Amino acid sequence: AKARHRGRAQLFDAAMHASVLERLELEADLRVAIARGGFEIHYQPLVELQGGELRGFEALVRWRHPARGLLGPCAFIPLAEETGLIVAIDRWVLRAACAEVASWPQPAGRPPVSLGVNLTATHLHSPDVVQEVQSALQASGLAPERLMLELTENVLLSDTAASAQTLRELRGLGLRLALDDFGTGYSSLGYLREFPISDLKVDRSFVTNLGQDGAATELARMVAVLGRTLGLATVAEGVETPEHYAQVRELGYTLAQGYHIGRPLPAEQARALALQEAPL
Ligand code: C2E
Ligand code: CA
Ligand code: CA
Ligand code: CA
Repeated sequence: AKARHRGRAQLFDAAMHASVLERLELEADLRVAIARGGFEIHYQPLVELQGGELRGFEALVRWRHPARGLLGPCAFIPLAEETGLIVAIDRWVLRAACAEVASWPQPAGRPPVSLGVNLTATHLHSPDVVQEVQSALQASGLAPERLMLELTENVLLSDTAASAQTLRELRGLGLRLALDDFGTGYSSLGYLREFPISDLKVDRSFVTNLGQDGAATELARMVAVLGRTLGLATVAEGVETPEHYAQVRELGYTLAQGYHIGRPLPAEQARALALQEAPL
């Protein structure tokens, strides 16, 4: 039994060793990608639920890995966060997405599409963040009111006073601020008074379980009511079916995002969608 145990321990060591090596390799590749521009942005459409019109896009980063192909954020964002490399990635995404969307011609008779960009805690708490956002807006020419920065609730848990100040300065630039994955974090509702938030993006898990799980349904309803009460726009994410769409519309959400409306698209296709005349 002892020998068998040792054998298993060795196997475990070997697996650990391999994963440590793999991590180091991935980190090295990530540094190269940052230095040489190995990322792409896909854009997922958001529609206004009352009229069904296209209102904007969320920028979602992908990594064009030389050997592994196109990787989604879950394959590298956790490592990028641990290593602090996320700040460089977010910075690039912010500048590139603003430049891309600002370059699209604007169809007549409709407000120009908005752009959502994700911002991690490390980035929000970095000293130059306000200046960086301002510079991305200026360099691209994107009107500030078209930009929405998306933060998760947990970003607000640490260093509350400093975060509130940074968020006020960001709002001062004229942009929107969304609480992302709302309902899954640890923040208290009081935070909604303390921080200058303009949008609530209810977590997709509540939408997925609409009509099936009573608690999820009640929570989704509560977020819609909360938004209306506080005068905040509400976004339902993860709208995958016509039923989801009808339900979040019924609950009074302002905007919807999800596979039923559209998958994240490469820039070319997103641009074509933004120029399309007919509603989605
Ligand atoms: P998120 O900000 O909550 O973005 C929405 C995610 O849900 C995206 O996954 C999107 O593709 C996916 N999604 C959209 N509609 C549906 C649907 O109907 N059903 C399902 N099952 N999923 C849907 P993605 O692109 O894999 O991104 C995952 C997360 O990675 C994002 O979650 C965000 O937290 C993070 N992320 C993406 N881009 C960036 C970035 O540039 N910077 C940072 N810091 N994080 C990013
Ligand atoms: Ca987001
Ligand atoms: Ca989300
Ligand atoms: Ca998320």
